[in-house]
Amino acid sequence: MCQTKKKWQEIRRDLHQRAELAGQEQSTAEYLLQILDSMQVDELKTGLAGHGIIATFVGAKAGPSIAIRADMDALPIQEDKSLVYHSFNEQVSHKCGHDGHMSIALAVCDWFAQNKDQMKGRLVAIFQPAEETGEGAALMLQHLPTIDYCLGLHNIPGEKLGKLLISHEIFACASAGMKVNLPGISSHAAEPDKASNFYPHIQGLYDLTQSLCCDQENEKFQVVSLTYLQVGQRSFGLTPGPSEIYLTLRSYSDQQMNHIKAKLEEFFRPLKAKIEYCEVFPAVVNSGDLGQLAQAVASEKQIAFQVMDFPFRWSEDFAHYQKVSKTFFWGIGSGQDQLHLHHPDYDFNDELVEKALYFYQAFLIQLQNQ
Ligand SMILES: [Zn+2]
Ligand SMILES: [Zn+2]
Repeated sequence: MCQTKKKWQEIRRDLHQRAELAGQEQSTAEYLLQILDSMQVDELKTGLAGHGIIATFVGAKAGPSIAIRADMDALPIQEDKSLVYHSFNEQVSHKCGHDGHMSIALAVCDWFAQNKDQMKGRLVAIFQPAEETGEGAALMLQHLPTIDYCLGLHNIPGEKLGKLLISHEIFACASAGMKVNLPGISSHAAEPDKASNFYPHIQGLYDLTQSLCCDQENEKFQVVSLTYLQVGQRSFGLTPGPSEIYLTLRSYSDQQMNHIKAKLEEFFRPLKAKIEYCEVFPAVVNSGDLGQLAQAVASEKQIAFQVMDFPFRWSEDFAHYQKVSKTFFWGIGSGQDQLHLHHPDYDFNDELVEKALYFYQAFLIQLQNQ
């Protein structure tokens, strides 16, 4: 194995061992700073939105400010300890490949830093905490310098190793968690007519959620999933009183999301429900011609790519960067036999660092010349 490949593999595995949950990425941040310390960072901001880091590198020539974003957090999943570089932390492991995303960002920083004299503009490396909870990106926005572009990626298991997944528009769905608290009054189980609770409305909610769903092979994909429903207690003497419902809402666009929310709110309003939204992710939408540019770069460099027919059904809080910059988010296949994201035995494919770096280099040079 060549020296650079080995270096990034070691770094990725070191990060893997430090897996930390959203909002707790302290040791991960310390490790990143240690690696960044060996590069010529021109501006360094730490402790952002918790443990976030922004490292800026300044090229010798004038040009745009291009940000690349890597997510830092892991998941509450126990990892098999037979993995040589298994997570140090019980019940926490990198099962979404954010350890790999950070290594890719470090590799891009290293390349830019070593070639500063030929580089135009700035490279702004954003190491963002708390992606999985959808909180990190929005909080990082206030710490961002002015940027022209923001780029991000996700590894995609099940797709051919190194193949780029490019969207000219929507890359991933909007998503929101809807928490509904309903009042109610219990009664003796012998007198259910004296109670007031959600039970008589269950069918209505089921019918409504079904009518709001539209499958993925449709440009208007949307889905409402019931994830939690609590009505009453484990008792034979008491009818239910208050209840609690969790629904996850997903759609291709933010407009559809607003429509789903309005329909559900209309249903719950007469029931005097208290509604709260949690883990809100806007849809990830690529800016104008950046998808075309990515496609041109991939063709020129003979990198296999596929223009996506439909956006991914999952969500990414990268969407928040759309508020301050042109954005491009892309996928890179991590192998057809790779286990899916969040699977307890998933592990980031180390082969991807060099492949992602290769595309990033070519794409950044194109953007620098825009
Ligand atoms: Zn994830
Ligand atoms: Zn992820």
